[in-house]
Amino acid sequence: MKASGLDSQLNAKWARVRGRLRSEYGEQAYRSWLKPLTLVGHDNGAFKIAVPTRFIRDWVMQHYSDRLRQLLAGEVNEFRAVEIVVDSAKAPADAEASQPAYLQAAPAAVAELPSPGPGADDVSAPLDPRFTFENFVVGKSNELAYAAARRVAESKTVPFNPLFLYGGVGLGKTHLMHAIAWHIKKAQPERRVIYLSAEKFMYQFIRALRHKNTMAFKEQFRSVDVLMIDDVQFISGKDSTQEEFFHTFNALVDQNRQVVISADKSPSDLEGLEERMRSRLGWGLVADIHPTTYELRLGILQNKGEQLGAEIPPKVLEFLAHKILSNVRELEGALNRIVAHATLVGRPVTLETTQEVLHDLLRANDRRVTIEEIQRKVAEHFNIKISEMQSARRARAVARPRQVAMYLAKQLTSRSLPEIGRKFGGRDHTTVMHAVRKVEELRSTDSSFSEDVDLLRRMLEA
Ligand code: ADP
Ligand code: MG
Repeated sequence: MKASGLDSQLNAKWARVRGRLRSEYGEQAYRSWLKPLTLVGHDNGAFKIAVPTRFIRDWVMQHYSDRLRQLLAGEVNEFRAVEIVVDSAKAPADAEASQPAYLQAAPAAVAELPSPGPGADDVSAPLDPRFTFENFVVGKSNELAYAAARRVAESKTVPFNPLFLYGGVGLGKTHLMHAIAWHIKKAQPERRVIYLSAEKFMYQFIRALRHKNTMAFKEQFRSVDVLMIDDVQFISGKDSTQEEFFHTFNALVDQNRQVVISADKSPSDLEGLEERMRSRLGWGLVADIHPTTYELRLGILQNKGEQLGAEIPPKVLEFLAHKILSNVRELEGALNRIVAHATLVGRPVTLETTQEVLHDLLRANDRRVTIEEIQRKVAEHFNIKISEMQSARRARAVARPRQVAMYLAKQLTSRSLPEIGRKFGGRDHTTVMHAVRKVEELRSTDSSFSEDVDLLRRMLEA
């Protein structure tokens, strides 16, 4: 069946799906990968889509097929499957013009994402089209990291070197790095940007050692304008790669090239890294991403819900923001699951179905930490007796730790303010509210206090 032979209703549905893909993944990704998709057949909910090359097919399958499936399932009730076939003859009429430039020039040599700058493709990892600044929701916990990343992406010079981003898993480090790369590719395409994980960096280096072409390796890295290395905690230990990383790093910084690094810990806490390396990493701007707040979680859910194009009651979003505290990745996973479920069974999302669909995840998040554990850890940390958590004493040496414990109880558990108050010697919910505000206020003015609280939080979440 040819596209023109498909009924007009189906064509309209297909056009809607394409429109969504375009707005979700952006113009660049759309033109390279999604525009070449042609709907060539539809039979009782089974879609057949043609693409002009195998390479595009593989790429689409790997990166876009889940979303494509979701969107098609949202359009037809009887949705069953999507099949992607390679058929150069069935490419769209304007295929020539719409082909990415690299396909027109050298159809046989396609191997990586289309990106400017000779050689950059060899080492740079593919960028996720969703990880842009536009898709990044900013809140208190990540505003410094966000502002710093934007600054690096937007300046023509090097504002601080290196930019060191750190924070726990799933809090948006990789997202921000990709966003920097996307932005520079668009605004200053002449600058060469390399983004890769520290693991891949090590792998490439070891391979170069084995093939005795470390010169080429060095050249590759030392001629970039912006080098971004993700998750450098993986570099620690491996001596020769650490050495090479250090040299590369120094060479780039000396030539005033931008370096962006991410890790799960601050430079000074990176174990297994040489002291000179640790101190050098902290010379530029060190921006940490704190665990999410309720407001940020809610903002991310609203944003993501809109992107998914699903009707999700605000109550459900609030519920998820309260319950899923671990990280953004898990939060997104939860939302995807309830939307997929609703699409499949053809019923709207409700609080009940959400609890049902996510019961395992919710339990895991609930089990994460109890108020008793929080009280114990906080008391240990501040070196006070655990009984002080319930006592009526108001001396600051015990009142402050008690407030921290209340604050953490609010952040890390799903208990209500009155419930928390009861666990702290039968205090009123307004006392808990006051404690939460007080701790927030102190955190914004006293960075060492803030670090203490984060440390406690990480220990409790571990
Ligand atoms: P990390 O690299 O810190 O482990 P990622 O950058 O991979 O975390 O983020 C995990 C997921 O959460 C990604 O899908 C990312 O898009 C999303 N995410 C994290 N923070 C935000 C945010 N502030 N706004 C929108 N999405 C976010
Ligand atoms: Mg990451």
